[in-house]
Amino acid sequence: MICYCECCQRATSAPFAAFIVCVSDQVKWEGPLTHFESSLSTQRGFCSACGARMCFVPKNGRMKSTFLQPL
Ligand SMILES: [Zn+2]
Repeated sequence: MICYCECCQRATSAPFAAFIVCVSDQVKWEGPLTHFESSLSTQRGFCSACGARMCFVPKNGRMKSTFLQPL
């Protein structure tokens, strides 16, 4: 999925964000993530060790979207 919204542009410092959408129960992280509120309805997570963008999670949903690195 590709998103051109202003929130994704700010989060990625790019003209768009590319990501896959998956059910949160099917994603396993091997290290700790830190989350921050990027909008009223969304939290974004990044690796606590290296700062890499990892995911964004709608606050009221079961789906977790995982970012792929922009090209
Ligand atoms: Zn967006």
